[in-house]
Amino acid sequence: MLNQLTNADLINIAEEFGTPVYVYHAEKIKSQFERLQSAFDNTDTKFFYAAKALTNINILRYIKSIGCNIDCSSINEVQLAIKAGFAPQNILYTSNSIAFSEIEAAKDFGVNINIDSISNLEKFGKKFGHTYPVGIRLRPNIMAGGNLKISTGHEGSKFGIPLEHIDKVIDLVKETGLFIHGLNIHTGSELKDVEIFAKGIEVLFEVAKQFPELKFLDLGGGFKVPYEPGEEGTDIEKLAEKVKEEFNWFEKTYNRHLQVWFEPGKFLVSEAGYLITKVNVLKESGHTIFAGVDSGLNHLIRPMFYGSYHEVQNISNTAGEKKHYTVVGNICETDTFAENRELPEIKEGDFIAFLNTGAYGFEMASNYNSRFKPAEVLWKDGRAVLIRKRDDLGDLLKNQLQVL
Ligand SMILES: *Cc1c(COP(=O)(O)O)cnc(C)c1O
Repeated sequence: MLNQLTNADLINIAEEFGTPVYVYHAEKIKSQFERLQSAFDNTDTKFFYAAKALTNINILRYIKSIGCNIDCSSINEVQLAIKAGFAPQNILYTSNSIAFSEIEAAKDFGVNINIDSISNLEKFGKKFGHTYPVGIRLRPNIMAGGNLKISTGHEGSKFGIPLEHIDKVIDLVKETGLFIHGLNIHTGSELKDVEIFAKGIEVLFEVAKQFPELKFLDLGGGFKVPYEPGEEGTDIEKLAEKVKEEFNWFEKTYNRHLQVWFEPGKFLVSEAGYLITKVNVLKESGHTIFAGVDSGLNHLIRPMFYGSYHEVQNISNTAGEKKHYTVVGNICETDTFAENRELPEIKEGDFIAFLNTGAYGFEMASNYNSRFKPAEVLWKDGRAVLIRKRDDLGDLLKNQLQVL
């Protein structure tokens, strides 16, 4: 049974550590991972947490402690993963448009690497031949995902090697002896429909026929979690059934066994996260009441960047009379978190929580307007522990050289 994180707990955390503050519910992360594991029980499947969703070192260590592997999107994340204690064979490096020197560095660390351009693949083949296996990231030419900015597999996308260039990859294998041990696609984020994954598998099976040394097919991440009330996430159990069916078929038909890899980010950490803010100002204007909180697009940019929906709760007053509010930030930009939401009456000083903010929340935070990044708190075993201090003025100046 999942231990609870109640509104009273969130209020206590806000009072103890101040606002704005991100809170992460450890056991929720674990229960999400267990749902994946049990759905894919009895299959040869590996999960790599897409660290870019949330990289606090304590979260990485927790992810490791529950038995999950890790996927990194920069060489710095690879180093954080090593620091968090992941063994190199449990680290995957999937990135794009990076310098070849980063790929060499990843090889020196001994981690798994997915390469996403012909250019880097050629350099790798010429330098290392058959001595070090790599995966290749393909662009499957499938349009899918929550919005265009988070769609990565379509024909206009910069991500991956376009399918129509696969012959060049095969030539490189012949010329340089490249050892291709995996094929990767990551079609986008918020892929609700299992059929999108099925399409991806179909594409990969077709390509797999031409690569006899394959060990795995990496289907990427992008599982959808529900954001709006009544919205549904990816049906993980249905996805698992589909994957089993397809991979069993492939194994029987071609007499080849392939492992399945996934790179879930959002699915593991999004619902575990809360951003708690405090209402500074109420302002009435026509039919709208603005509730201005002590945070903004510098702390949670998803609503403004992607038009993402985050549920808002007045955790200080859950039963009051409902009114419509537009919840805005305190940054000198239009930073609307939520428009015209029906919420129990808000008073200045109330705590407002934004739900489902564990993924791409703190991680995309900045110091815009010279404001501090929020504190981060881990809720684990029914206790709150500070895992990142709020910035202070010294942090704003830390890397500046005062030459004038
Ligand atoms: C961002 C990313 C993921 C994770 O996506 P989610 O939508 O958070 O699951 C997985 N793989 C790659 C290569 C990514 O860039």
